[in-house]
Amino acid sequence: MLHYSFCKPRGLIEALQVLSEYGGRARIAAGCSNLLPDLKARHLQDCLLVDISELEGLRGIQAEGNWATVGSLTTIAELGGSPLLREGAPLLWQACQSFGDPLVRNRATLGGNLGHASPAADTAPPLLAMETSVLAESLSGGRREFPIAELFAGPGRTNLRPGELILSLRFPLFERKKVAFVKFGLRNAMAISLASAALSLRMEDGLMQDVKLAYGSLAATPFRAFRTEECLTGMPCNEETLVRASTEAQGEVRPITDIRASSSYRRLLAGALLRQAARAALS
Ligand SMILES: Cc1cc2nc3c(=O)[nH]c(=O)nc-3n(C[C@H](O)[C@H](O)[C@H](O)COP(=O)(O)OP(=O)(O)OC[C@H]3O[C@@H](n4cnc5c(N)ncnc54)[C@H](O)[C@@H]3O)c2cc1C
Repeated sequence: MLHYSFCKPRGLIEALQVLSEYGGRARIAAGCSNLLPDLKARHLQDCLLVDISELEGLRGIQAEGNWATVGSLTTIAELGGSPLLREGAPLLWQACQSFGDPLVRNRATLGGNLGHASPAADTAPPLLAMETSVLAESLSGGRREFPIAELFAGPGRTNLRPGELILSLRFPLFERKKVAFVKFGLRNAMAISLASAALSLRMEDGLMQDVKLAYGSLAATPFRAFRTEECLTGMPCNEETLVRASTEAQGEVRPITDIRASSSYRRLLAGALLRQAARAALS
């Protein structure tokens, strides 16, 4: 028997009130593609599911000038089907194409992918590389905006404050950069990433500039690989540079061994995915 209660607030304020009142017992439920497996596996017990799926204000993609605001309830299918993101935020758009399968993409939300705080969350590396900011709100603390790098605390843990809900994500559009998201799993579809990488850069006079590189599944949280970025910046994108940067990346990641892969294998993947991403971005 699964033990949980359920409520469906009619508006944002009501949702924040319930989250505040029930504290640690309350769990935000969006698409439930993580929550239901967790409930079935008994990782979650005796909780109150706060179903936010009908809070329409949290849904949708809005563009204002060269900035996009994406509501946390926006599904991966909506992101992956958006012509605006395909053109203006191709790194995030690419990550949504290989995410789960169509059934999962129709349920899974962006807020849920980040709120679950898996090191393997596929939208996290692109959003990190795009220097996204998170807008969150709680009843007691009000609204606050912070860089997405500050969201992740560890596997399954965020730095969200008690009762806080992610409202939306904000990132720049049309940066006209060369980008690639690459992911490696045990099979091509429906696989948790053993490692993923999001790379964006600009070529100026044959040299790489403004390089952003973020990894998934290669540390306790998704993260920006600043040392490797430095190694690439100002360099031509040739074999010598990529081999040197791969070595740096292998030293910078902090992977674990689990049932899917050993840490040493994942370390090698850091370099391999970097080379693959650089070639894909520049092709
Ligand atoms: C078969 C299958 C395949 C999958 N494939 C992939 C894949 O390829 N890539 C990938 O990254 N993931 C994958 N997942 C994981 C999952 O689908 C995603 O993490 C999804 O985005 C979660 O969104 P959700 O709306 O279903 O979240 P939910 O299950 O509703 O919630 C997940 C967590 O986030 C919290 N949360 C939800 N919304 C908010 C919010 N607005 N603010 C704060 N916290 C919030 C919840 O409280 C919960 O802790 C897969 C899952 C399944 C079952």
